[in-house]
Amino acid sequence: MLPTFDPTDTEAGSRILEDITSNAGHIQEQVLEEILTKNASTDYLKGFLNGHSDKGLFKNKVPVVDYEDIKIYIDRIALDGEPSRILTNESITELLKSSGTSGGKQKWIPKTAEEGERRAFICCLRDTVLNRYLQGLSDGKALLFVLINPDIHTPGGLVLRTASESEIKNRKDRYPQFILCEDTNQSLYGQLLCGLVQRDAIVSVGTFFASGLLRIIKFFEEHWQEMSSNIRTGQISAWITDPNCKRAVSLILSKQMPDLADSIDLVCQEKSWEGIIKKIWPRTKYVLATITGSMAQYIPALEFYTGGLPVVSSLYGSSEAFFGINMKPLCSPYDVSYTFIPNMAYYEFLPIDNHQDPNCTNRKDAHLKDHIVDLANVKIGQHYELLVTTFTGLYRYRMEDILLVTGFHNSTPQFKFVQRTNVVLSIHTDKTTEQDLQKAVAIAMQILQPLGFFLLEYSSYADTSSIPGHYVLFWELQLRPNDDTPELDQVKMEKCCSLVEQSLDQKYKWLRNQSFSTIGPLEIRVVKQGTFNVLMDFYVSQGTSLNQYKTPKNIKSEKAIVILDSRVVGKFYSREVPNQDS
Ligand code: AMP
Repeated sequence: MLPTFDPTDTEAGSRILEDITSNAGHIQEQVLEEILTKNASTDYLKGFLNGHSDKGLFKNKVPVVDYEDIKIYIDRIALDGEPSRILTNESITELLKSSGTSGGKQKWIPKTAEEGERRAFICCLRDTVLNRYLQGLSDGKALLFVLINPDIHTPGGLVLRTASESEIKNRKDRYPQFILCEDTNQSLYGQLLCGLVQRDAIVSVGTFFASGLLRIIKFFEEHWQEMSSNIRTGQISAWITDPNCKRAVSLILSKQMPDLADSIDLVCQEKSWEGIIKKIWPRTKYVLATITGSMAQYIPALEFYTGGLPVVSSLYGSSEAFFGINMKPLCSPYDVSYTFIPNMAYYEFLPIDNHQDPNCTNRKDAHLKDHIVDLANVKIGQHYELLVTTFTGLYRYRMEDILLVTGFHNSTPQFKFVQRTNVVLSIHTDKTTEQDLQKAVAIAMQILQPLGFFLLEYSSYADTSSIPGHYVLFWELQLRPNDDTPELDQVKMEKCCSLVEQSLDQKYKWLRNQSFSTIGPLEIRVVKQGTFNVLMDFYVSQGTSLNQYKTPKNIKSEKAIVILDSRVVGKFYSREVPNQDS
């Protein structure tokens, strides 16, 4: 059902894009019909539809679910090796590790070969839009940093990967050989080195997320001298031992290039690295990295390094499905909206009262179904939580993403990504919820409680002022009333930091464990007694009603962070890397 076209043919791609966005409502009905016809006989749907594939019946009978509700079906496939047809009549070939969590465990999302085709299609449409706005991309090379980890297999025999690893590993032919290197430091070193050797051919630089790109710039800061020396001598460093990596580099670094090394030194020796991307790769037309949602915290830092180049957030997608593309790739990172592509999945939307705290939506309300609207009927200015029904076995599944309708492209709505429900902390692709944090803090406090300490109040923020960023927790501890500055035991406080980390979810621990770590050691800042009262006074002075005030568990206001920081009596860091297997 997907139209096919040559991705380098911008006109053909544009025609398809205009066509499908002009018929969004109709295509969505077709997609739902196709999903139901294909999957009516699955165990899951039979339970609600009795083998029928009627769309009205679907809307009446199939419940809104979250991962917890369907985990039992996924586990049967993933752990017990039962067939895909429990959920879908497409054949599940992989499970994608979603960054969302359910009860502290990573979600495993089914993926099929056909789903791979759908994702390739939306990526072609995305490239069409980029080519429309940025001429000459095909005259140069894209420096897209990609890093992979070894595959894991579930007891049921399915491969377990992230969505980005799946994309890369299934389309190996599109990427250089580095991508087969599973040592991230060697791989990244090789990718940067080749990017430097070919610096005059590079027309775009990017990776999946803004946090990742900043981490790569930091790595470059630490290694540019060594890379320049490799270019000067025409020899790669001896610590690069991975055969795929060595082979890929040797194809490009085949001779001594002292002039190139000199020019790299000149740029990198400058005191400030402002605009470094533009200076190192002068033909770059844009930087590709998702910078919406939780990544918006990195806009100023990334803009510092890009030297005025547009930072393009091109796609909104997930392990569950790919949803939309940015039709105005050169717009300000603050103004990005994604136009939903109607033939990827069937979309529905749960309205959220614009004044309501999105974290307070009643997740198990039996009447949720009565409020659902479909893609064609969303309203501009209204917030919604996205529900998705896929070909791959998810039906009316809560994405836990909050979106705001900002406009339409033809008849297709465009959405701004507002936030993930309930996430308080995120540095990279980790998503720590308020409950995760609460649980972790409670566990860590077991160290201090026997000493007579109480935790009066706590809050947190993601400190991204240095790369990699790290979680900061503010703790107001009380030993005795009016004891302003209780004596703190350094070793015990560091243990608390480690225990909080150890109690966070698997994705956090996994990211902390990577040799190329994208999250730094967690920090606890102990504040003087009374600090959280001052914080409350601050929020009340800003218009929060005293009756409704609850200490925010995540602080976004810079002024509020200054208030807390000015009352810090001790700072402690985790000294251990959390064990990701526990
Ligand atoms: P994952 O399943 O681990 O790939 O994570 C998918 C989630 O990442 C989505 O549900 C969103 O919460 C977030 N996400 C993906 N793309 C974007 C984007 N373009 N802007 C903001 N958040 C995004």
